[in-house]
Amino acid sequence: MSDAPRDAPRDAPGEDVPRCSAKGCRAAATVDLRWRNPKLHDASRVKHWLACDEHADRLADFLAVRGFLLARAPM
Ligand SMILES: [Zn+2]
Repeated sequence: MSDAPRDAPRDAPGEDVPRCSAKGCRAAATVDLRWRNPKLHDASRVKHWLACDEHADRLADFLAVRGFLLARAPM
């Protein structure tokens, strides 16, 4: 999958509208994926990965197969 993220999700500071985190996607985010890499982050850390409807399933799977996904919440 050429548009699947390969590295850590990026944060998007300074954006008015939350954008999808999928590579190359500029759609507004509709889903907040909360995740943590237990090897990098302690239990108090929660990272956010925002996704549009189209990419939410794919990004959630990406995190879930690695055991990173904590929760999936609508924006
Ligand atoms: Zn998207």
